[in-house]
Amino acid sequence: MIPQTDPQAGAAVKAADRAHVFHSWSAQELIDPLAVAGAEGSYFWDYDGNRYLDFTSGLVFTNIGYQHPKVVAAIQEQAATLATFAPAFAVEARSEAARLIARRTPGDLDKIFFTNGGADAVEHAVRMARLHTGRPKVLSAYRSYHGGTQQAVNITGDPRRWASDSGAAGVVHFWAPFLYRSRFYAETEQQECERALEHLETTIAFEGPGTIAAIVLETIPGTAGIMVPPRDYLAGVRELCDKHGIVFVLDEVMAGFGRTGAWFAAELFDVVPDLMTFAKGVNSGYVPLGGVAISPRIAETFGRRPYPGGLTYSGHPLACAAAVATLEVMAEEGVVANAAVIGAQVIEPGLRALAERHPSVGEVRGVGMFWALELVRNRETREPLVPYNATGEANAPMAAFAAAAKAHGLWPFINMNRTHVVPPCTITEAEAKEGLAALDAALSVADEYT
Ligand code: PMP
Repeated sequence: MIPQTDPQAGAAVKAADRAHVFHSWSAQELIDPLAVAGAEGSYFWDYDGNRYLDFTSGLVFTNIGYQHPKVVAAIQEQAATLATFAPAFAVEARSEAARLIARRTPGDLDKIFFTNGGADAVEHAVRMARLHTGRPKVLSAYRSYHGGTQQAVNITGDPRRWASDSGAAGVVHFWAPFLYRSRFYAETEQQECERALEHLETTIAFEGPGTIAAIVLETIPGTAGIMVPPRDYLAGVRELCDKHGIVFVLDEVMAGFGRTGAWFAAELFDVVPDLMTFAKGVNSGYVPLGGVAISPRIAETFGRRPYPGGLTYSGHPLACAAAVATLEVMAEEGVVANAAVIGAQVIEPGLRALAERHPSVGEVRGVGMFWALELVRNRETREPLVPYNATGEANAPMAAFAAAAKAHGLWPFINMNRTHVVPPCTITEAEAKEGLAALDAALSVADEYT
């Protein structure tokens, strides 16, 4: 329902926010958060009555869009019957959510450990791997994001790690494949794949295979730029893990639950990890929920020996009821197929056409409802439109691009020199076209900086 908007009410919300809310990843005095009056489907509204098409899905989590009536009703019903219960009990919403998730996860990943979000899922996956192998080290990619808690931020490769990394021993970063900015002087996908695998194998050899508990990778790195890996890369990593007894952890917190046009991105590459983390799309973020899907080999480690870890709200009934309803909606409404079809037939050709018209677009990449446009000053040199990790004046071109998109009714996802195109997986063809038209206008502003 389109909310009744009242600019004065919006001003009060904003004033209280500015006075008391301490925002993530932000210099508190330099931000100006929009006050949101309401949201529905692919849109949200501010208190001045402006409507925005959400090409961010929040933080890439509202895979079924905002305020789906079935999920809202399921949360209300669960609240009315059993709003909360401790994790050590079998509760219908929790066991049903675990059963439905296990049905969708790849291969034999059929035990579910619930967390409150993605970062804690990564924390627990790594703890399970360390205890399973009795080894200390974790290998992860430089261009990655795995969460904001202490261990997850250490494992993360993106620059946000710099300020909060404790420098904990035992985390080693390596380069995963990314042909557009290849670290391996590769010119083809196949070269990039072979050289990235060779680099990882060398890293394992020099770190000592017997010291490595886990390799943690996003199936398709999201926050760091939606870099779809070469077809055979992940199978190659799987082989290296098998050869050296290393636990293979795929982080599907962002790529999972339909985002790529498959239930999980691992299916696109025919790989099954030993542990898989998830969150976000599991219930479209209506109530915080994440988890780790666990293979029988690792689950057995904790068959007769306690798993030393847990969370008060593990598998919270409200969150699990939202997950059950979300998974039902996804099946009934063909949400995964919609992401694949609108992605392939509308978003991809639309973005490629924009790239032809706009010199600021260096590369278009992605799959399903998971796309990035890399914006550059110069297509030949691939110099980014803004420098790495730019702030303030240095970031002006991306700020101008974002302002232009918003002026055209589109809320864009911006990260460094990229705009990610990650709308809800339920998006219609007409909405996708509306968003592409707004991007077209905003890219004309970015072109002025080339
Ligand atoms: N892993 C990946 C791949 C993510 O994209 C994110 C969040 N963007 C996380 C982990 C962390 O999830 P959360 O913010 O729910 O802790």
